[in-house]
Amino acid sequence: GNVFFRVFPIVSKIIERQSQKIDKLSLHRSNLLKVIENIKLGVLLVDSKNTVILTQTYISFIFGCNIEQGQSIIDGWKNYKVLTLFDKFTKENFQKIEFEHKILKFHKISIENGYIIIIEDITKEESYQAMKMNFFSNASHELKTPITSIVGYAETLLLNKDIDKKDQNKFLKYIYKNALNLNDLINNILQLAEIEHFKQSSDVLTDIDVETLLLELNINHLLNSKNIEFIKECSIKTIHFNEYHLKTILNNLLDNAFFYTKEGYIKLKCYEDDNYYVFEVKDSGIGIEKSQQDKIFERFYKIKSKGSGLGLAIVKHLVLLYNGSIELESTVGVGSLFRLK
Ligand code: ADP
Repeated sequence: GNVFFRVFPIVSKIIERQSQKIDKLSLHRSNLLKVIENIKLGVLLVDSKNTVILTQTYISFIFGCNIEQGQSIIDGWKNYKVLTLFDKFTKENFQKIEFEHKILKFHKISIENGYIIIIEDITKEESYQAMKMNFFSNASHELKTPITSIVGYAETLLLNKDIDKKDQNKFLKYIYKNALNLNDLINNILQLAEIEHFKQSSDVLTDIDVETLLLELNINHLLNSKNIEFIKECSIKTIHFNEYHLKTILNNLLDNAFFYTKEGYIKLKCYEDDNYYVFEVKDSGIGIEKSQQDKIFERFYKIKSKGSGLGLAIVKHLVLLYNGSIELESTVGVGSLFRLK
């Protein structure tokens, strides 16, 4: 009896301490599980026999199916494609793979009695990189064309001192024209970069008198050179907007309408509809084939071009900046209608 009464408090204390430790550990564990469950990475904990010890929801987000704890990482998947992927991973330990239009990065970390697989979906980063490369290669190509011409004509003028006055003038005009193209191109590239950085532009919004704005558009100077009627139908008196942006949008659309229309009309219509300002630019020009109608809004994309193929990309980015939308209705040989909201 005596011994029991002496040992009992010590044993109780040990039990109490142990249970406190267990409580602390389970709190740690549940916090850790919460972290793993909520990170935007796929995590799989696997033992040395390739059995899954832990998985989380993001895995099913990546692969469209999950794996149960206790199943084999190699053949426990219900989807055949995922199963083949993990079979390959266990054999080859690849680091990057394309899977169902996604680019996935796998990290394998060895731990005692097993390993952890961390899977990152890097599709966005990769496509951004590809887009950047694409942009630079297109931009350099576009810049090279006028520069090559300028260098060529200048060299001819420098090396042939006895060139007659008429040819001299002709070459100087080519140089001037190409320099202007270069200037336009650089301005367009800078403008596009600026728009992409803008994100919001409420600080430069003003009340614009639409009638005055329409009189200041480039098309007014172009009209004399072609037999085209310019029709304006506008019921918006003032618009709260960034004036420079609105002019850029309309100038780009009207320049295109004018350039791609031989004869007939160009109609600019604007009106209010629900909570939107609507601007329509319609022409009786060459029209755009269905298969090209989405592509023409991409940077540098051109079919039959007067410029660098950046005009509509600028329009689209500006419209998106104001949470607007752009629609195109076009028939080859009949004409096109660009509708901006
Ligand atoms: P570009 O400076 O080459 O005209 P854009 O980005 O403004 O570049 O237009 C892209 C392409 O879309 C043009 O190359 C042209 O083929 C086509 N396009 C644009 N507007 C019209 C239009 N109103 N009618 C016919 N084709 C058009």
